[in-house]
Amino acid sequence: MFQRSLLRAITPSAKLPDGVEIVTRSGVRVEIAVRVSDRAKRLLLKFNPIEDRFELVVPRGVRFSDVTRFAEAQQGWVAARLGSAPPRILFQPGETIPILDVPHRIEHVAGSGVPVRLEPGLLIVTGKPEHISRRIRDFLRARARAELGDAARHYAAEIGKPVKGISLNDPKSRWGSCSSRGTLCFSWRLIFAPPKVLRYVAAHEVAHLVEMNHGPKFWAEVARLVGPHQAERAWLTRNATRLQRLG
Ligand SMILES: [Zn+2]
Repeated sequence: MFQRSLLRAITPSAKLPDGVEIVTRSGVRVEIAVRVSDRAKRLLLKFNPIEDRFELVVPRGVRFSDVTRFAEAQQGWVAARLGSAPPRILFQPGETIPILDVPHRIEHVAGSGVPVRLEPGLLIVTGKPEHISRRIRDFLRARARAELGDAARHYAAEIGKPVKGISLNDPKSRWGSCSSRGTLCFSWRLIFAPPKVLRYVAAHEVAHLVEMNHGPKFWAEVARLVGPHQAERAWLTRNATRLQRLG
């Protein structure tokens, strides 16, 4: 798929390959996906730090030789992006992950029993090694559901509105949502965040039960529930990529 030899065979009208490979100055080979766009006016290189994925958007009609020349000229930018991304931490023994912002080291013990349990600073998982990651994820989702459910019901009681239902998912660009039917949806990754941040997101979605917008009345409602929340919002912005790269 990423063959440089295609270069000579290509003509301006031919279909571009779906990727190019460049090598950074420190010798790292990086694949860049190529996407032809009818709307693009110029070549644009993008980086998705959640998936470690580079994409080059190319206006229709640009020659492959120009695409590769552009990509190669960006090697410094590519290397900087790779170096600035927070570490990707898998749910594996020896790794340390935050639970409600408190670091917990993952330990695996052989045998059966409670699949996952917490001790101070430790997350202990049993069972077969190939099930460790899924078991930890299930455990964290359940904890997130409990914490977010408690917080949401607490705030909903304060404003006198019922919560019709709570669901969890794993969106890339938002922490929660509120449907017009009154069901709340949250990212399970909030279990990594400090309790104050988790509670802010719960209050934010509950406030949408009375104000389905982000106007001044809405923000006044959030402030009434949780007080000042600039620090919590800033924390989420600052840590979004780090939280997406866990697990
Ligand atoms: Zn909102």
